[in-house]
Parts: sequence; structure tokens; C-alpha cells
Amino acid sequence: MTYAFDPAPQAAVPVAGSAARFPVRRIYCVGRNYEAHAREMGHDPDREPPFFFAKPADALLYVAPGTTAEFPYPARSQNVHFEMELVAAIGKGGKNIPVERALDHVFGYALGLDMTRRDLQAEAKKLGRPWDTAKGFDHSAPIGPIHPVAQVGQLASGAIWLTVNGEEKQRSDISQMIWPVADTIAFLSTLFELKAGDLIYTGTPEGVGAVKPGDVMKGGVDGIGEFAVRVA
Ligand code: MN
Repeated sequence: MTYAFDPAPQAAVPVAGSAARFPVRRIYCVGRNYEAHAREMGHDPDREPPFFFAKPADALLYVAPGTTAEFPYPARSQNVHFEMELVAAIGKGGKNIPVERALDHVFGYALGLDMTRRDLQAEAKKLGRPWDTAKGFDHSAPIGPIHPVAQVGQLASGAIWLTVNGEEKQRSDISQMIWPVADTIAFLSTLFELKAGDLIYTGTPEGVGAVKPGDVMKGGVDGIGEFAVRVA
């Protein structure tokens, strides 16, 4: 079997403490998963069912520990926002996964940024159009190494935070998720058959805001360290 041209390389994220890389299949993202962020975006924080959007796997931007990765400011936007998020990496697939067993499907956790062209998203919302150009652009998904559950355990609580140029912008606790990781996996697996290699960006807490070229974002989640990304 031959291809008409060389296929694109497999998207992959390094696994902390290992020479192995986690091959990425799909990137799912949860919308409005913290009450105070739902409120700041103008929505009723009552527990509505979770909703999802996706980014292409090749939108990942790997942020190596101890380095500052460069995030190129995307074209066609004047209002690019950071959203600091915990990422759950799926190591075992399934559909209709019961919530009690959902965490058995998690391979590990990573730091993530759901970078967003907020102006294009606002226009899409107003016009009832898809979010892809707002959410799925190139380099829109910075991610740190994946920390296996075998090393760091399950992450159910702990601070999640982000600073821009040293000033704190986001601080919450991952226990504040409206739909915790297990619930999110269970619900998502009723919509899609999850497979090993899927990533889930689990939503951002309050405090989202715009960045401009030159800004340095630092973010972290207790238990899996911190990372740094400069807007280029
Ligand atoms: Mn998000």
C-alpha cells in the first residue's frame, strides 16, 4: 500500500519520566465547566448538561518543562484569550462508560491552554455558526508533558492558576468543575466512542482574558507542575 504523498507525522505528546510519547488521536474540549467562568461569559451557571467542541490533533503546541514555548499570535483576531485547563489523557477507549469506572480510562494528566480567538467566537455565537475558527486554529492547544496516573495518581482537587507577566489572572481549584473528569468521560462516551490517544481539555475557571505579543503566560495545576508560554 502506498500513499499519494507522505502522511503528516503522528501528533504526540511526551510522557513525563519516560522516553515514550503519547500518540494523540482527537482533542475534545468541555465548555463552561466552572460556575464562575460560565457566569463571566454571561450564562446561567445552573448545571446544564456538558457540551463539547474539538480541536485538531495537530493544533497541539508542546511546552517542555523548564522552557518557554512560543505561541504565535493567530491571524484574523484582535482578541485572543488564554484559558488555563487540566487535560485528561485517555489510555483505554470505550463507549457508554459508567461514571464509576470512568477514571480507569485515564492514562494521565497534563497542563493545557485552550487558546481562543474570542472575537471570532463571539461572532459565531451571535450568528449561530460553528466555533472552529475561534477554537481550532494552529497552535491553539499548548500542552505540557503527560503525567501518568501511575506516578501522580488521580487529580480530583488542587489549585489551577495562570499568571500573565507575573500578574495572577486565574486561580481556582479543579474540585470546582461542574462536571468532574469522571462525569465528563462518562457523558462524552455516550456521544463518541473514546479511544486510547484522545485528550480532553476539561474547561477553564474564571478570569480569562486577552494577551498580546510579548506577554508571558505561566500556568499550573497542583500535582503536575507548571509551564510557560510566550506570545510571539
Ligand atoms: Mn476552554
